[in-house]
Amino acid sequence: MTATTTHRRLRTEIPGPASRALQQRRAGAVAAGVSSVLPVYVTSADGGLLTDADGNTLIDLGSGIAVTNVGHAVPAVVDRVRRQAGEFTHTCFMVAPYEGYVEVCEALAELTPGEHAKRSVLFNSGAEAVENAVKIARVATGRQAVVVLDHAYHGRTNLTMALTAKSVPYKHGFGPFAPEVYRVPGSYPFRDTPGVTGAQAAAAAIDRIEKQIGGDAVAAVVVEPIQGEGGFIDPAPGFLPALARWCAEQGALFVADEVQTGFCRTGDWFACEHEGVVPDLIATAKGIAAGLPLAAVTGRAELVDAVPPGGLGGTYGGNPVACAAALGSIETLRAQRLDRAARAIGDVALPRLRALAAETGVIGDVRGRGAMLAAEFVRPGTTEPDPALTKRVAAACHAEGVVVLTCGTYGNVVRLLPPLSLPADVLDEGLTVLEQAVRTEAAA
Ligand SMILES: *Cc1c(COP(=O)(O)O)cnc(C)c1O
Repeated sequence: MTATTTHRRLRTEIPGPASRALQQRRAGAVAAGVSSVLPVYVTSADGGLLTDADGNTLIDLGSGIAVTNVGHAVPAVVDRVRRQAGEFTHTCFMVAPYEGYVEVCEALAELTPGEHAKRSVLFNSGAEAVENAVKIARVATGRQAVVVLDHAYHGRTNLTMALTAKSVPYKHGFGPFAPEVYRVPGSYPFRDTPGVTGAQAAAAAIDRIEKQIGGDAVAAVVVEPIQGEGGFIDPAPGFLPALARWCAEQGALFVADEVQTGFCRTGDWFACEHEGVVPDLIATAKGIAAGLPLAAVTGRAELVDAVPPGGLGGTYGGNPVACAAALGSIETLRAQRLDRAARAIGDVALPRLRALAAETGVIGDVRGRGAMLAAEFVRPGTTEPDPALTKRVAAACHAEGVVVLTCGTYGNVVRLLPPLSLPADVLDEGLTVLEQAVRTEAAA
C-alpha cells in the first residue's frame, strides 16, 4: 500500500482467510463453470468501495460489469426497493399488471434515441433482451437472417451464443447453435489496416452481407456501439452511421445492443447518440436498475407491436422490485447528472492511461469514452497481444485492493468501468495503483 492511501483498507492479504474459507465451501456446492474474477466475498458496498468478509475495503473499478452505474446502496434505489418489497414482490405482469412496469417503459421511451413513438418490453437479463430483439425483428420484417460482427458479445443463451463471436469460454462445447446468424467484419481501428475509415470498414461489412446473404434477406444487424467483452472496441467514426443507413435502405432493422454501454456509461445516455445514430430497436440491461435483474427492448412502436399479444414476455420480466430499482436508478442518473460525471472520469483517466502507454511501451492502444475505458496490452513496438502481462497487471491491482476487469478476443485488455458516482479522489487512488501495477509488471 502507498503512504497516501485513504480509501483502500487492506487488513489481510487478498483474498483473506474468511474469503478463502468461503471459496472452499463454494467449491463443494457451486458449479465450477461459474468463475469469479476476484474471490473476495463481499459483505457490503458503498461509494465505489467494496468491503469483504475479512474487513478489507477495495476500490471498485468494475461496477459488477457496468451495472452499478449509480454506485452501490444509493438512497433513491434503496428507498424505492424497500417500499416496493413491502408492498408486493410479484404478480407477474402477464397476469395482473402494475404501474412501475409502465413507468419504466415511459422512461425508456423518453431516454432512448429518437423522437418516434416507442414501445418497450421488459426482461431479466441482457441476453434475454437481445434474443427478444431478434424475435421482434424477425416478425416485423418477415425475414430471418441476423448479421453480427467480429468480436461481438451478446450473451450466453443459445441464440445469443450464436451471435457471440468468441468460442472459449462462451461457446466451446455448447453447440449446436441457432441458424441464420451471419458474422461480418466490423471496425477495430487498432487492428485494422492503418488509415481505414469507418465508412470503408462499413462498406466492407456491407459488401460481405450483400454477397453472402442479400440485403433483402436481413431481418436485423445487431451491433454493440462500443464492443464490450470483445475488447472495448470503439469503431472508427462513420462506421455505425453507414451501417444504420444501409439497414434503413434495405428494410433491415438496426439493433443496438447497449446492454453494457447504456445508462450514461459512455458520457451519453446511450452510446449511439455520440454519432446521432437512431436504432430501430435498442436492447438495454446492465446499468438500468443498479443491479436488480432487469432488461428491456425498446423500439419503434410499429415494429415492436408487430408481435401479437402473448408473443413476448416471461414470468419474471419487469419484476416490480426491479422496476422500482430502475426508477430510483434513473432518477439518480438524472439528478446527479451522471452523464457528465462519466465524461469527467474519461477526462481524468484517458490522459493518464496515454501517459502510461508512452512511458511503459506495453500498452498499444488506449481507448473508450466516458467511464468505459480500456488499455490494450501488446509486446512493445508491435500489435502482438500480451495476455500474460494483462493477467499479471490485473492480479497486481487485485492484490492491492483495486478491482479491475479484463476483456478482449485476445484477453489482452484491461477495462475500467467505475461507478459514475466514484469520487475523484477514489478514482485517483485506483488509477495510481493501476499505473504502479503496469510499471512493475512491465519491468518484470
Ligand atoms: C453483458 C452483455 C450481454 C448479456 O447480458 P446478461 O445480462 O449477462 O445476459 C449482452 N450484450 C452485451 C453487450 C453485454 O455486455
